[in-house]
Amino acid sequence: MFGDIPVEISPMYEGERIRAANMFVELGGPKSIGAELVLVSESVEDGKITVVGPEIKDMEEGKIYPLGILLEVSGKQLEKDLEGVIERRIHEICNYVQGFMHLNQRDKIWCRVSKDSHKKGFGLNHLGKAISIMFKDEFPIIEEIAVTIMTEEEKVKEFVEKAKLEYEKRDSKARDLSEEDVDSFYGCVMCQSFAPTHVCVITPDRPALCGGINWFDCRAAAKIDPEGPIFEIPKGELLDSVTGEYTSLNNTVAENSQHTFNKVYLHSIFGHPHTSCGCFEAVAFYMPELDGIGVVHRDFKGDTPLGIPFSAMAGQCSGGKQVEGFSGLCVEYMRSPKFLKADGGYERIVWLPKEIKEKILENIPKELHEKIATEEDVSSIHHLKKFLSEKNHPVIKRISELESTEKEPETVFEEEKESNSEMVQFAQVPEMAIPTSGGIKIILKNAKIYAEKVIITKK
Ligand code: SF4
Repeated sequence: MFGDIPVEISPMYEGERIRAANMFVELGGPKSIGAELVLVSESVEDGKITVVGPEIKDMEEGKIYPLGILLEVSGKQLEKDLEGVIERRIHEICNYVQGFMHLNQRDKIWCRVSKDSHKKGFGLNHLGKAISIMFKDEFPIIEEIAVTIMTEEEKVKEFVEKAKLEYEKRDSKARDLSEEDVDSFYGCVMCQSFAPTHVCVITPDRPALCGGINWFDCRAAAKIDPEGPIFEIPKGELLDSVTGEYTSLNNTVAENSQHTFNKVYLHSIFGHPHTSCGCFEAVAFYMPELDGIGVVHRDFKGDTPLGIPFSAMAGQCSGGKQVEGFSGLCVEYMRSPKFLKADGGYERIVWLPKEIKEKILENIPKELHEKIATEEDVSSIHHLKKFLSEKNHPVIKRISELESTEKEPETVFEEEKESNSEMVQFAQVPEMAIPTSGGIKIILKNAKIYAEKVIITKK
């Protein structure tokens, strides 16, 4: 099937990582530009592969080049709503190609070609051919497919702008719809290849974590491929309209996470937050010192007020985990009136990167525009607290209320001591190992540690 392609094509290469030492060239990514796009067209020249710009053999080792991947597809059963779902599979399918690594999605794609594959004569025309064959194989409803791969800077620039307009059209379509308007939600388990307990729940208010798939896309995907990774979830009974807890979602998450988790709250980062895979666009994170929440996106290169960057934070909550105080999400979800509703919504948001704040400014209540800090206003928790106080952010009231309750511990503590019935929660950890002997290992997940007394001494 892949006769003249000089590298192997197989799902076994999906987890292949190409580190800098083995890399021949990088394409797209944070130091360049790139995008991928699928367009459903009326008629397409089937099997046509076009490379616009330098081929791999003409590139200089160790350099970074722009990248555009355009798939034009046609077929009697194909509908526009399927573009997003087909596009999301580019990631998986490109990663089947030996010596080619594809990360992220949409205009965030980041790819690498290995030195070995370059030596074997691998080129972008081969990548195009592999994509063309595999997509027809995976989606029998694709009758014709043409692939264009761009590496010429000007062409890629134009293409990225065009792709962004298409993404915006898709995203805005779901904005007028809300969870109350529909009878079904959707689940996606496409990321279980690297995050085995992750289940995306997609509702009109909460698009997929990767930002590439919305409720309409899922509806079309589940219709044409009911056995595929995207499936319908009848809405079921609403248990809590604030957290967004539904019986059907609890059951779906339990079943698809091998019962690692049995509850999910759509609109909270506390209690039972949505699981996080690894390709989420952004992470919402709790700052206990301020009782506030920040959101940082993948493209933000600096440190958050917590003193760590996006990558470190993503490492703590990815892999399909449900980590209280963190939740992977897509930026589009921040436009929903239900955005972290159970946690206080925007009244609880204290910090955002400037890029995100500007993008969703119209969705932030006007009175909070000046009260939410960015990296240009503060660089640490200490500065952030000062900023919030000066701006009289709503969390300041929460903090003083919390501080005043903390100042009355004597009575509470005495009561607890007398009754001797309840202990105090001291800490919560996503994962911890307990030292044992006899060849066994005990790992506690999402452990809450309670203690009768906590003694803190100075070394
Ligand atoms: S992030 Fe969610 S919706 Fe996107 S591909 Fe992964 S599982 Fe599917």
